[in-house]
Amino acid sequence: MKKICFDHNATTPVADEVFEAMLPFLKGEWGNPSSIHWAGRGPKKAVDAGREALCKFFNCADIETIFTSSGTESNNLAIKGLAWAKKDKGNHIITTRVEHPSVLNTCKALAKEGFETTYLDVDADGLIDLNSLEAAITPKTILISTMFANNETGVLFPIKEIGAIAKKRGVTFHADAVQAAGKTPLDVQGLKVDLLTISGHKLYAPKGIGALFVRRGVRLTPLIHGGHHERNRRGGTENVAGIVALGKAVEIAGRDMAAESERMLAMRTRIEKGMQARIPHVKINGHLEKRLPNTVNISFEFVEGESLLLNLDMKGIAASSGSACTSGSLEPSHVLTSMGLSNEMSHGSVRFSLGKSNTEEDVDYLLEIMPAIVERMRSMSPLYAASK
Ligand SMILES: *Cc1c(COP(=O)(O)O)cnc(C)c1O
Repeated sequence: MKKICFDHNATTPVADEVFEAMLPFLKGEWGNPSSIHWAGRGPKKAVDAGREALCKFFNCADIETIFTSSGTESNNLAIKGLAWAKKDKGNHIITTRVEHPSVLNTCKALAKEGFETTYLDVDADGLIDLNSLEAAITPKTILISTMFANNETGVLFPIKEIGAIAKKRGVTFHADAVQAAGKTPLDVQGLKVDLLTISGHKLYAPKGIGALFVRRGVRLTPLIHGGHHERNRRGGTENVAGIVALGKAVEIAGRDMAAESERMLAMRTRIEKGMQARIPHVKINGHLEKRLPNTVNISFEFVEGESLLLNLDMKGIAASSGSACTSGSLEPSHVLTSMGLSNEMSHGSVRFSLGKSNTEEDVDYLLEIMPAIVERMRSMSPLYAASK
């Protein structure tokens, strides 16, 4: 059976070019980049080159980057690091209700230390109201942290506008750009962000490598104390192969983004139009335009999303209900319920997230098998029978 992945927002396979680039640093070039002898020289050069590629991707200086272990660690470092460094100035953080757990639970953890967080609501399209954001800022506000693009719906927040408000009010601004990276440009100068998170494995590099952009002048208290790595901001011998991989991945992303985005958008549009044309009672979740080109989240009324996923899996199709981080729990998606979806509609939602491996034939196959699966599942639903 053909295996098709429509779950690229959960993770991505390591690209061939990335694999080739990192391989030497797992075997031959095994030295410690901090060593001054021959064994360290190659790895040191490789870390520098990886950082240079990242700087080009962000349009920033080398001292403005920190390599981490993941998007989760970058988000923790941005939020806790800033909060701890600025605790004399204030204790108030602003974020939104639809963030990734690595942001929500970090804010929750900080509450135990006396930090207070305002969680901004989103509207039915999944967007925040900029006036509410501005109104939430107090003299005690030290940080605004919002995602760039939502992992469940693909909805894009107006990062430039949020950055302008943060700048005007003198508040540090962190954006979680894990899903945006490689799908939309991330020029940190144009975006007016102070801190920005990315993760390797959402971008065709392996799991276990992430990065944080830290604008010059923004001070962070480290989470991990150790040697002088990353200019004393994150101890631990560098993940050389991971850094090389991330460097290659962002280089490829910069090169291919425009063409890939166009290709994704064409496939996504076909999925949306195809589902709507072939299946009654479907709803596309999130703002129809302000969305990543690769992501579509669809509610199938009178259908249990998890069972739908199992049925798709049996046909070789990998998709997801909302987010990989919350699947397995019976809670409806916090993102969809924040947008006003009922628990039923939320439970009946499936996310299709496209990536490099996908072709138009994959879309054909999905659209071919989907109507019968949904119809069969609905035929077993007493609610569906009652609705007719
Ligand atoms: C996946 C994801 C993260 C976490 O990144 P990891 O590298 O898996 O820790 C953070 N934010 C968003 C929006 C994500 O999609």
